[in-house]
Amino acid sequence: MKTIKDLELNNKKVLIRCDFNVPIKEGKIVDDTRIVGAIPTIQYALDHNAKVILMSHLGRVKEEADLEKNNLAPVAVRLSELLKREVKFVNATRGEELENAINNMNDGEVILMQNTRYEDLNGKKESSNDPELGAYWASLGDVYINDAFGTIHRAHASNVGIPSNLQETSAFGFLIEKELNALSILDNPEKPFMVVLGGAKVADKIGVIENLVTKADKILIGGGMAFTFLKAEGFNIGKSLLDAESLDFCKDILAKYSDKIVLPVDVAVTNEYSNDEEYREKDITDLTDEEMGLDIGSKTLELFENNLKEAKSVIWNGPLGVYEFDKYKVNTDKLLQYIVDNNIKTVLGGGDIVAAATVANLKDKVYHASTGGGATLEYLEGKKLPGIEAIK
Ligand code: AMP
Repeated sequence: MKTIKDLELNNKKVLIRCDFNVPIKEGKIVDDTRIVGAIPTIQYALDHNAKVILMSHLGRVKEEADLEKNNLAPVAVRLSELLKREVKFVNATRGEELENAINNMNDGEVILMQNTRYEDLNGKKESSNDPELGAYWASLGDVYINDAFGTIHRAHASNVGIPSNLQETSAFGFLIEKELNALSILDNPEKPFMVVLGGAKVADKIGVIENLVTKADKILIGGGMAFTFLKAEGFNIGKSLLDAESLDFCKDILAKYSDKIVLPVDVAVTNEYSNDEEYREKDITDLTDEEMGLDIGSKTLELFENNLKEAKSVIWNGPLGVYEFDKYKVNTDKLLQYIVDNNIKTVLGGGDIVAAATVANLKDKVYHASTGGGATLEYLEGKKLPGIEAIK
């Protein structure tokens, strides 16, 4: 993997594609985690005497009304504080003002240009990877660094167009390097390799199951999606979540890989989709037509723990219950804690399971919590990701 460390940065104009897609309310940044996360790559470029030109998307820009709320200006202010130096904000994505600002830079100076998606107002140029835009942005710099993992599964001008025009001098930043290193446990997983899957719909995870079922020694399935598998096995799942269109897929997978798939043996049930009923668990054989399962039960937790005890590497995507409800996040939290206490090498595969681990204060204690939602999922599906291919 080519990283920023492999390129000559001294006196160079270095374009760094960051992920500054942070929540901003009334001009104030609500959560600066992503900005803080970007600092090591930026600081490295500055320490190596580069002229640093930062770019990022922020939200979606479909119409004029989206411009002001997706203005990157507040990010420049926060960056200045974190880098302890001036970060000049240029309210443009092209043109004389931007070009002059870049041409007048000294080594060790930093510019942040306006939201790359402002270009989407004009024929979706950024999001459709308009060739002219990619070539233009590439012409502004000597070196290109991509450190925005969250958009790596998209082919946009700022992450594919630019490196296509700077083939020899493009590389990844430290954030992407860390993500790809962690996710590469998939390439040659230490065995036994196990996958924990949860979340709502089977349909969303078909690609992941198809890709991982051949590599994994076990797939432990919880969450709403377990019920379609349980229904395929012939159990009465009552009013639990059913993804009827995926029933045949589940039957197929169970027929081919029955030795690998581990399903819940008991669940926490309610009569209504709410957090208000008294907590109760039932064996999966005993659900009535009126009941629905909102979490795995304690026997299933033990079953999953006993399997994971043997694992040398694990990937986990999706919560095992409705973790938004206090009562039904319990077993997701307990399994996370088990993994941490037993030092099981686990990659949390983005999205809701990372949110659950964050709330449980366990995110920083697992081997790796991947930050990309869609990007991580596509990686787990075994797809080639355009942002990676463009730099490879
Ligand atoms: P996903 O985005 O596919 O990972 O799904 C996450 C969602 O799955 C969360 O919003 C959970 O509330 C939901 N979920 C997990 N378990 C269940 C369940 N047993 N019944 C309904 N929804 C569930």
